[in-house]
Amino acid sequence: MDSAPELFSLTPVELRDFFFDLGEPPFRGDQLFRWLHKVGASSYDEMTDMSRVLRTSLEERLPFATPLTLVEEAVSRDGSVKLASQTVDGLPVESVLIPGTGLDRRNYTLCVSTQSGCSLGCTFCETATMGFLKNLSAGEIAYQVTLALHTLQKHLGEKWNELPREQWITNIVYMGMGEPFLNLDNVIRSIRILTDAKGLNFSQRRITVSTAGVVAGFARLAAEPDLHINLAVSLNSPVEEVRRELMPISRRHPISELVAALRDFPLPKRQRITIEYIMFDGINDTMEDAGKLAALLRGLSVKINLIPYNVGSVPKQAGRRALLPTPRDTIDRFAEYLRGKGFAVTVRASAGQDIAAACGQLARKTRRSEKDGFPGDTE
Ligand code: SF4
Repeated sequence: MDSAPELFSLTPVELRDFFFDLGEPPFRGDQLFRWLHKVGASSYDEMTDMSRVLRTSLEERLPFATPLTLVEEAVSRDGSVKLASQTVDGLPVESVLIPGTGLDRRNYTLCVSTQSGCSLGCTFCETATMGFLKNLSAGEIAYQVTLALHTLQKHLGEKWNELPREQWITNIVYMGMGEPFLNLDNVIRSIRILTDAKGLNFSQRRITVSTAGVVAGFARLAAEPDLHINLAVSLNSPVEEVRRELMPISRRHPISELVAALRDFPLPKRQRITIEYIMFDGINDTMEDAGKLAALLRGLSVKINLIPYNVGSVPKQAGRRALLPTPRDTIDRFAEYLRGKGFAVTVRASAGQDIAAACGQLARKTRRSEKDGFPGDTE
């Protein structure tokens, strides 16, 4: 932590210690944590169960500053909502609310960013074009959930008021801007904040952290045995040369090293790692690729998520080859082959393409959708 701690990054234990040092009862730390993360307070003035004198003293010692400010909301025709925000130092952060598919659609998955920009340079990714700007703090990561809940409250609060606010978001995926394993201390801290019973009390089982394959991160996570989050790995090709063209990280951590790390990871029983596989026409979608993928993953506890590629704002290529989406019937054949080999396979419908909110499309620019209404408010 920095010498001036960032209020929203502090855990309940740290806040209790802070109040103890102030000569106040430690339970004040739990109170403050609840205001910040469960209620989503926007100033100390709202915390009416603390005296005015105490609130003034807090403002002096631990200045109140919300970690992110919402800059723009863009609603997609498919109902996903991109939230563009910025940090106190003016850097862009993006999160995406993806509506559930259940009958009442009373839930969202939230995709959060862990860095502003990204250094890994995946050739298919819009975020990569921004370069790396900074690691987000735990407070900046966790506050994306608060911003999303405020947005849902604004649009759907009256309609959904019989359901506790914190249940409106049922899953959190760390798959937005940035590589979570390159900011793992803050990622883990943000998970501890989001899952604390005094705050949003989010279930660890409903959190997924996705990596492009920064191998050291697996051992670091394994050293936190009380963390039971889900893991996803962006693989995208079983062929080393092809993966290197798509994901330069493979030059540092080749596929063999990545798969060895997956094999060694102490997965709880019945849990499976998700293998993310974006499909590019003629690059990684042949039946030969499917065969190699099946051989590579044999014996691993995984499920495979095939993702149709979203063409971004500018044409992209891997080596000399243009990146284009694989036709749907090819994706279906690929999926059937893998199912025949005993793998659980889903084909993900990528949400938010018209507002640049889909997988690999998060960059600072946003495009307005033609659809103005908020999903759920017109039912
Ligand atoms: S796909 Fe993920 S890891 Fe790769 S450049 Fe984009 S944000 Fe970074």
